[in-house]
Amino acid sequence: MNATEEAGTEPKIGSRVHVLNADRSKELGYGTYMGEVPFKDVPDEPAACVAVDESIQLTEAEQAEVSAMVEQLMEGGATTPKIVLDSGEIIFGFQCWWREIDDDDTREQHWTCEKCKATGSVKYQLHGDVMSVVYLIEDDHKRVSPDCDQPVSSIRALNANVIN
Ligand SMILES: [Zn+2]
Repeated sequence: MNATEEAGTEPKIGSRVHVLNADRSKELGYGTYMGEVPFKDVPDEPAACVAVDESIQLTEAEQAEVSAMVEQLMEGGATTPKIVLDSGEIIFGFQCWWREIDDDDTREQHWTCEKCKATGSVKYQLHGDVMSVVYLIEDDHKRVSPDCDQPVSSIRALNANVIN
């Protein structure tokens, strides 16, 4: 179902992942891999486990077979990856297509504020929201120097992009 599984390695809990819907027609964004959870802990109805591709029309017999299979999966303690999207939405591995983002996709951006002389660095995703690094710097500056009123647009982002 995903590139990571094909490669035979399991992502670390907390890994960043890129998520598409089941037939890969829609971008669901980025999220965090939370590890494997038993199917029985998935809040959706069991039938939802196989309703991943709406273009597939199952006959009644096939549907019954699938339902039996899903029930078996649930009772047998089978697991599915749990992913928390950056939007806060929770999605499970069988509901989507996902892959772990390479560590190389993480960059560190250093910043410095000329007014309060504070410096800091934030980690951001290369393929994330373009504005996210600006918000991260704004938050980091506020955290380091809560009384400084320098707008984020005036905080200097240093050019040294360091790979983790
Ligand atoms: Zn400042």
